[in-house]
This record gives sequence, structure tokens and C-alpha cells, in this order.
Amino acid sequence: MVAGVDHTDVPQGTRAARRFLTATAILAVANLAQPLGLGRDLGHAAVAALGVAAVVVGVRRNKPQLTAGWYLMAGGLGLWVIAGVLYSPMTLGGRPPFPSVLDGVFLLGYLTLAAGVIMLAGARRVPRDPATLIDSLVITAGVGYSSWSLIVGSRRGGGDAGVLAESVMAAYPSAAILTLAALAHLFTSRRPTGAAVGLLAGAVGAFVGTDVLLQGLIVHLRLGPTVIETGYLLGFLLCGAAALHPSMRIVSQRHDAPPRSIELLQITVVAVAVALVPVTTTVQLLQGRPVRTWALVLTFSIVIGLVLVRMLSMVHRLREQSARLERLADTDYITGLENRRRFAERLAASLGDPDDGRPPAAEAVLLVAVERLTEINETLGIRAGDELLTAVGERLLAEAGAGGIVARVGGDTFGVLLPGVGSGPQAAARADQIRDLFVEPFALSGLSVSVGGAVGIAVAPGDARTAPELLIRADLALVAARERRERVAHYAEQMESGATLTSQLMTELRAAMEDNQVVVHYQPQVELLTGRVYGVEALVRWLHPEHGLLGPAAFVPAAEHTGLIRLLTQYVLDRSLTQSALWRAAGRDLSVSVNLSVRNLLDPGFVTDVRRALERHKVGPASLELELTETMAMVDPDRSVEVLGALDDLGVLLSVDDYGTGYSSLAYLQRLPVRRLKIDRSFVTGLLGDPASAAIVRSTVELARHLGLTIVAEGVEDDETYLALRDMGCDAAQGFGLGRPVAAEAIPAMIDHIELRLPGLDLRRVPAQWRA
Ligand code: C2E
Ligand code: CA
Ligand code: CA
Repeated sequence: MVAGVDHTDVPQGTRAARRFLTATAILAVANLAQPLGLGRDLGHAAVAALGVAAVVVGVRRNKPQLTAGWYLMAGGLGLWVIAGVLYSPMTLGGRPPFPSVLDGVFLLGYLTLAAGVIMLAGARRVPRDPATLIDSLVITAGVGYSSWSLIVGSRRGGGDAGVLAESVMAAYPSAAILTLAALAHLFTSRRPTGAAVGLLAGAVGAFVGTDVLLQGLIVHLRLGPTVIETGYLLGFLLCGAAALHPSMRIVSQRHDAPPRSIELLQITVVAVAVALVPVTTTVQLLQGRPVRTWALVLTFSIVIGLVLVRMLSMVHRLREQSARLERLADTDYITGLENRRRFAERLAASLGDPDDGRPPAAEAVLLVAVERLTEINETLGIRAGDELLTAVGERLLAEAGAGGIVARVGGDTFGVLLPGVGSGPQAAARADQIRDLFVEPFALSGLSVSVGGAVGIAVAPGDARTAPELLIRADLALVAARERRERVAHYAEQMESGATLTSQLMTELRAAMEDNQVVVHYQPQVELLTGRVYGVEALVRWLHPEHGLLGPAAFVPAAEHTGLIRLLTQYVLDRSLTQSALWRAAGRDLSVSVNLSVRNLLDPGFVTDVRRALERHKVGPASLELELTETMAMVDPDRSVEVLGALDDLGVLLSVDDYGTGYSSLAYLQRLPVRRLKIDRSFVTGLLGDPASAAIVRSTVELARHLGLTIVAEGVEDDETYLALRDMGCDAAQGFGLGRPVAAEAIPAMIDHIELRLPGLDLRRVPAQWRA
């Protein structure tokens, strides 16, 4: 909140306030030493005027956000000075008349001062709430009436002063109470800090104290005018010092306090103030003192009127709050769309009662899942994730059109309700369009990010007739859609069977590893310059008894989610090192590359696992390469850097897989202990036909050279690409065009063939079974 305060001039401003106080205090004391009379009164006024001037100067110097409150206070004090100067000559001729016009000026000054404090207290950005002002007025009326009655009542034969005089008499303590209430409000409306607010409180305290306490005591204690004068002057000077102090900017800032809730203390104080009126009257009656009926009626009417307004404003506020709560309960706070609750309500409303005899409504419910949301959240941050959701929501809204309803119904899931779409094919066509909304990348915090979408369909009345059923079935369809290549699925009865393919597979995977159903295939990696195979990449497969040979895409992502990945990586590592040792024994020096998953990098035990595995299989660390993607390293950069550093220290070679598909720059990668870049096959496969890909590969090769990294091109599917890469200065290649991933037993023959063929490339072709 102190944003506007320039800290360099704080001491300077503080000094100004201090100097002002010292100087004026000396003047004030000097003036008090003078004999009573016009001269002394004028001196008093002059010192007070200095206080007023200091407020104005302070506002100009400190340039606070809000100046009006301070100027009002200065105005109020100025009125007092003027009234004081005019009052003084009147006292020369003995007791001045009471009440006089000057009392009006004094009171106006008080009200202006109080208004200034109230303005400072109430400077919120949110809509103004009149409650506080009304409360202050009620308190003022209650306390004013009560003190007036007591003053008037305490006078023997009271009432001879006349209505006007009595009212004016009561007005002084009332104004003092109002100012105090305003000050209390300043303190409770927020927690103002700084010396200025303390000085201001001191000033108000001095004024009110002098008025209420000293004026009362003076009669009893025979205090001279010196005490009174000192009290008032103190108020003026403290006020001036407050404005001069730089921390006055803190009190003068607009603040963001939320609309105030109903406060018990505030209401209690108001209730007590209201009760003061009948209590005072009762006391008066009991003591046999006269009760001024007109004053009682007037005060009661005012108080009741104010309380009525206050209650109306409270009702209004409660209404607003309940409307706000209702809106909140129906809104998803990230996207601003409707939430699941509201979506279900809408669906139920548009489906109508299934038993009312009318023809059932035709509606399609599409549940749309944003894929890779967790990954985006983890790599780019929650804000990027929120941006993504908002952007998806916007695309869906545009797609759904005027009649459609879009809601966010789950973490990564949106619901789209399409009224009137009752047939399967019609709904499927819309679902395809919705899935294609994800083709164009999303711009997230300046990055262009591609994510996929999956759509589950359920249609009323065909699939279900009630909202809950329809939603459950769309959800089942969505689960199926996530597993399908086309990413769209319409509800079908067999989806009810419960376990999804993924969850079934995960329960089986552990046993499958023990059963040796999980196997590792190897794909050769070739040095471009020599045509020599220096290593192989280990790629996991599952020989599933029912589903056949499953590629990693079918179970690695799920293993990552369920935590089984730790076991799986360990398994592949073990198999690969066993194989590497066997090849070495047979005289083949092949390095083996194992793919890591993000969980491995976050796992503190992983480095030990790798070290133990190397020891167990008696394989040198240089023969092991570990592949990670750029995004993986960004999930938790600090932790990753630590794990990668430890692996590098171990002597293992680290490489960046799928380079070019993530968001990181080479500059970022440079901070990681990686030695090798594997350019993603999306740039390599199209190399010959697409100049952009060629340019990317060429510049990546050059940059990597400078950084001392070796470059491996993935996805080399033909000899022409192989030759082009060799031309560009790329170090190594891997791809179907050189050799597909095969079982370990097939590797020696494949390598022999490659090394025979590549040096004289144009002469011979790759045998059909090893080619794409
Ligand atoms: P990757 O690390 O990029 O592996 C290369 C993938 O590209 C392999 O697919 C390979 O069969 C395929 N490929 C190789 N040459 C060519 C080519 O010329 N053209 C085409 N179109 N594709 C080619 P695969 O075996 O299906 O593996 C897919 C991904 O699964 C791998 O991508 C890797 O990220 C992951 N993966 C494989 N094995 C493991 C593993 O043991 N652990 C982990 N965590 N992930 C693994
Ligand atoms: Ca790889
Ligand atoms: Ca790759």
C-alpha cells in the first residue's frame, strides 16, 4: 500500500514535521506568557493559522492520492481561526452574547473537520456504502440528545436559555462525538499505519478532549483559559504536523477494502446510542426534571428515520450479497463460464420431465477434455494453464453458437449442450468440429502451445432421458474417446462395463513385467560420417496376450500417471544393460539409450537406482545414454538440474529427446549437463520437401556445434534424407530408413547389414523387412 511513498525523502519530510512542531510550540508558549487580552488572542489565532497553513503546505508537498479530505479539514480549522479572531473583541465588553452567529461558524468548522476525516476513512474503490455515515449520525443524535438533556437538565431552572441556545449548547458535544466517530471509522475501515495517522488522532483527541472534558471541568476545577488554549493549539499543530509528515500519503490512499460485512460492534454501538434517548428521558422523569417534548419528538423522528434508512441499506446489501453468492455458486472462476452445477440444472431444465407425456427433447451433451493440461500447469505454470482453459472456453463458446451452452464441468473438462441435436451422426459431426478447434495452437504467455482435445458424446433421448444419466454416459464416452486415435467417442452400452482399457492395463502391467510380456526393442543409431552403428535406443513394447503388441503410447502415459513408471524405467534399464553386457561379451561395443519419464527426474532415488544397475551389470557409465525431453526438465528445473548433475557426475551421457517440440531455447538447455540433441522427427522426415524444416535442422546443427553438443536426427526414413543430413554436418541418425526397432536377437544381423550398406550408399538398398 505504500507504493506511492518515495523512501528517499521520508527522513526529510519527517524532519519538516518535527521542525514545524518545535517552532510553533515555542511560539505558542511565548504567546501564552503574554497577559490575557486581544493581543494574546490574536497571537493564539496566528499560531493556529500556522497549523492550517501547514496542512495546506503538507498536502502540496506530499501530493497524496486523495487531497479533498485534508482540504476539508484545513477548511474546518480555518473557520475556527476566523471565528476565534472575531470572537475575541466581543469578549472585551464582558460576557459575549450566546448563542451568536459565531457559534454557527464554530459548529460549521466542526462539521467540516469531521467531514474531512470521514472522507479519508471512506475512500474506497468499491461502491460507497452509506451505512457508516448513517451510523455516525445516529450516534451523534443519540449522544447529542442525551448530553444536551443533561446540560440543560443540570441547570436549575433550565429552559430559560431558549430553544436555540439549548440546541447550540447540545450541538458542541454532538459535533465532538461525530468527529470522534469519524476518527474511529478511519481506524476500523482499514489498518492505517505511519506517524501521520497518530498525529491526526492526537489532533482530533486534543480538540474533542478540550471541548468535552475541559469545558466541563473548567467549571469545577477553575482551570484558566491557558489550559483550554493549549488544548486547542495542540490540535491545530498536530494536524499541521500530520499533513507535513510523508506517511500522510498512506492514510490518503484509496483502498480496496471489500464491502464491509455487518459488524457486531458497530451495530451494538448504534443500538446503545438509540437507547440513550429513552434512557435519558426515563432518568429525567425519575429525577423530576422537565422533559422537552419537542426535542424528544424531534430526536426520535430523526433517529427512527436514520435507522429506517440504515435498515433499508442493509437489506439492499444483503440482497446484493445473496445475488453475488448465487452468481458465484454458478460460475467457474477461471473461465467465467457456468460450472458443473449450473450446467446440470440447465440440462435438466431443457430436458424437461420425462414423465409428463410430452415428446422427449432432443439434446446432445458433449464433454470435451483438454489434454495435457497437467503438463502445461507443471511446465508453464498454473497461470498458463488458466489461460489455456479460458482460451478453450472461448473457442467452444464460438463453436456452440447462440443456442448452445458451454460450461466448465471439471478440472480439464468442458460441457457443451446442443439443444435440438438429437441424432448420433449430427452430434458426431459437431464433436469432430469441436475436436478440430484444438488444431490451431494456443498462445499462452507469449508461447504457442499445441494441445489436443477429446470429445465424449451422449444424446437425448437415444442414450438417456434424464440429466444425471446423460452426463454419466457422456463421461463414459469421454473416457473411451481419450483412448481412441480419433479422440471422439459416442456413448455405447459396452462402455458401462466399468473398467476402462487403461485402468485394466495398469492393473495388468506389473504382472506383465514379471511374466516377461514387456519386452524391449532396439533401434540402431548410426554415425553419419562413417556409417558405423555406435549404439541403440531401447524402446519398450508389451506383448499383450489379448491386445497384441502394444506400443509405448498405449501404456507409458498411464504408467506415468499411476506411478508405475518408476518400475517400468527400472525394468527397461535392467533389460537394456543386460543386453549391452551380452553384446559386449560378443565383441560388439554398443551404447544403449534409455528413455526417461518426468517422474524419474523428480525421484530422489533415481540416481542411486542407475548407479546400482550399472554396477550390477558391470557396464561402464559411458555406455549408457539417458534421453529426456526439454519439457521434462522444466517441470521442476531446480530438482531436475540436481538429478541431471548427479547423473552427469556418474559419467552417464544425457541427451535431449524430441528437440524442437518443446518450448525451451538452446540457451536454457545449455544450463543442463546434456551432451546430445536429438532433433525431433517432425523436422527430419519432411526435410527434403520443406525448406522451413531444412532451415531449422541446419541452424540447429550449427548452433549445437558452437555449444559443443552432438546432434542426432530422428526419423530418417530414406537414404536421401540420410545424405542431406550428412551434408549439413549432422553427427548421427536414427530412423526406419536405417533400421526399425527390433528385438535384441535381430540386432547383430541388422548392424552388419547397415555397416555393409551405408558406406556405398547409392549402390544397395535396405532390405524390405527393415524399411518403412
Ligand atoms: P521416442 O523416444 O521419440 O522414440 C522414437 C520413436 O519413433 C519410436 O516409437 C520409434 O519406433 C519411432 N521411430 C523411429 N524411427 C522412425 C522413423 O523413421 N519414422 C517414424 N515415423 N517413427 C520412427 P515408439 O517405440 O512407438 O516409442 C514412442 C515413444 O514412447 C518414444 O518416443 C518414447 O518417448 C516413449 N518410450 C519408448 N520406450 C520408452 C521407455 O522405455 N520409457 C519411457 N519413459 N518412454 C518410452
Ligand atoms: Ca527417445
Ligand atoms: Ca524422439
